[in-house]
Amino acid sequence: METSEILNRLQSIVGAENVKTKEPMSSHITFRAGGPADFFVTPESSEQIAGVVAFAKDAGIPYFVLGNGSNLLVGDLGIRGIVIQLLDSFSDVSFTEAGGFLVRAQAGAKLSKIGNECVRKGAAGFECLAGIPGSVGGAVRMNAGAYGSEVKDCLVTARVLTQDGEVKELSAEELELSYRHSIVEEKGYIVLEAVFALGKGNPAEIKAKMRDLMGRRRDKQPLEYASAGSTFKRPEGHFAGQLIEEAGLKGFAIGDACVSEKHAGFVVNKGHATAEEIVGVIEAVTKKVQETSGVTLHKEVRFTGEFK
Ligand SMILES: Cc1cc2nc3c(=O)[nH]c(=O)nc-3n(C[C@H](O)[C@H](O)[C@H](O)COP(=O)(O)OP(=O)(O)OC[C@H]3O[C@@H](n4cnc5c(N)ncnc54)[C@H](O)[C@@H]3O)c2cc1C
Repeated sequence: METSEILNRLQSIVGAENVKTKEPMSSHITFRAGGPADFFVTPESSEQIAGVVAFAKDAGIPYFVLGNGSNLLVGDLGIRGIVIQLLDSFSDVSFTEAGGFLVRAQAGAKLSKIGNECVRKGAAGFECLAGIPGSVGGAVRMNAGAYGSEVKDCLVTARVLTQDGEVKELSAEELELSYRHSIVEEKGYIVLEAVFALGKGNPAEIKAKMRDLMGRRRDKQPLEYASAGSTFKRPEGHFAGQLIEEAGLKGFAIGDACVSEKHAGFVVNKGHATAEEIVGVIEAVTKKVQETSGVTLHKEVRFTGEFK
């Protein structure tokens, strides 16, 4: 299908203002690297999301769902097909009092937005998740977690769009959430909405706890540089950062891609790193850690698009 026809069809589904072509993905991922997406759409409703997916499938065009881009590395050659970003235009959050609170959030709502609302309403139990710079969709997909708490602890249900275009409500149990894993990816689901159960708490205490955790992040993590957070999953019985440090790799760099001096578990982009340089550092670290400790590191950051 011609580019102009694809563009017309996408514009008719989500509106002309919500479609871009050749969109630089470095503006949409926290690693600040990677090439352009052929088509980039920002739907505003579940119906529009389903419409884009149905069109892409009919036309045989690949599509990729993007949240806040905080767990991703996009290849330097970019993404072929359609990127569907679920973020600000699909980010409603509502609270219902039910003993504690039931919080219904669209997939594009940032966890920080839910956190801010929790402070206003006095809803407790989301403090550890509020500092993770992702969207609800991205967080459910990988059962995001921090400081001893994970999505699994408060998720009740998630509404997903299946590959067949069906909308399903799945319980947390059915999503099979475990360490940085759910069945969302293997089933090719798109998370549309999630419901979290939170308790009642004191707004000042909730705010203080969130501030404390954000302070700990600033102290320990290289937030001054672009990254995708922890580059590697925690290997059973070890800490990735410690193994990398013990392998003598703190500060190891290829171009502007570098193992953080502050926290060796983070590969950071100190300026204008290419995806190729970032991949080079990740591969070199994996190899050296295997040699020095015998432990195999597995990436937590997800790679997508075409790499050189
Ligand atoms: C400084 C920093 C600190 C971080 N700290 C933590 C931490 O403490 N704990 C932690 O767990 N993570 C952390 N992360 C990683 C990241 O924030 C989380 O993994 C987050 O959940 C990713 O959400 P996202 O919206 O950015 O997803 P994206 O990066 O946009 O996407 C990640 C994956 O999820 C998929 N996806 C996104 N939205 C949907 C959807 N609606 N439906 C289906 N699939 C979807 C994408 O296709 C992709 O495969 C950190 C990252 C940074 C940069």
